[in-house]
Amino acid sequence: KQPKIAFIGLGNMGAPMAANLLKKGYKLTVFDLNPEIVSHLAAQGAASVAHPLEMADADIIITMLPSGNIVKSVLLGEQGLLRALSAGTLVIDCSTTAAEDAKLLAQEAASCRIALLDAPVSGGIAGATAGTLSFLVGGAQADFERAKPILEAMGKNIFHAGGNGAGQTAKICNNMLLGVLMSATAEAIALGVKNGLDPKTLSDIMAASSGGNWVLNGYNPYPGIMENAPAARGYRGGFMSKLMLKDLELAHELADQTPCDTPMGDQARELYRRFTAQHDGDLDFSAILGLYLDEVWD
Ligand code: NAD
Repeated sequence: KQPKIAFIGLGNMGAPMAANLLKKGYKLTVFDLNPEIVSHLAAQGAASVAHPLEMADADIIITMLPSGNIVKSVLLGEQGLLRALSAGTLVIDCSTTAAEDAKLLAQEAASCRIALLDAPVSGGIAGATAGTLSFLVGGAQADFERAKPILEAMGKNIFHAGGNGAGQTAKICNNMLLGVLMSATAEAIALGVKNGLDPKTLSDIMAASSGGNWVLNGYNPYPGIMENAPAARGYRGGFMSKLMLKDLELAHELADQTPCDTPMGDQARELYRRFTAQHDGDLDFSAILGLYLDEVWD
């Protein structure tokens, strides 16, 4: 029998992920603070509720929210969803949070006899839409096995990173690297362009050379080079720079606690701090190119 799934957080990532579950035939109830996107999903066949507590009869709860604090506010506390769920429910948090948040949530869940996995994703909106996301999962093996078919409806690579929190640790390491790669790629393109090179020619050269990377392959920050990249649509509808900054802050906190030196990650954090102080933090993180070209995109 297909499990009843509830999905909370239908933003840039959550909406296409929920749409893929519907396409695969799962019975879905959705909730978001923004009623517009809720009606968009309802038009695709989802049921909707006025408050998360009305989703308490679901077998599986998926959350895709901006931050750990928001996940905690939805799940914990007096009005929190955890207390309302029946024993045996599985909660899959796909948001990017601190590993500490994931561990705390798993503990609180366990005290209500609820299983909880951290399952942050990688692959961006393109991956969420195509159903090719990577899921980086932390939690018990049996819970991982239970979640796997559902995650496979939204993703391609489903990794079991380790115990609770391990998915978030893997995600933070990956995104620290991505923040460095994006800012360094923008820096290299800007240096070439300011020296008379055509940005597309330079990008093609670097993509096929030893500087090649994920950003150059599918997420070029320079407008007009890639049709499907956020740079082609005014840096809207992507991975917001304020969320990249959140991840770089999480990486810094993790490095501090370890302790471990992360000078490249710290430099990327500095650049995203500067970018979000000067520009609209809702712009996609590839808009960091504007810092190097002295452009104002907003
Ligand atoms: P988003 O801001 O577009 O979406 C978040 C959604 O949560 C919004 O629709 C918002 O209305 C909703 N929301 C906020 N508070 C709520 C609450 N209390 N109850 C119900 N709904 C609430 O963000 P996004 O880009 O979809 O990112 C979601 C998560 O995924 C973040 O943790 C982000 O770091 C991570 N992530 C994003 C990308 C990306 O490319 N955008 C990639 C990987 C991971």
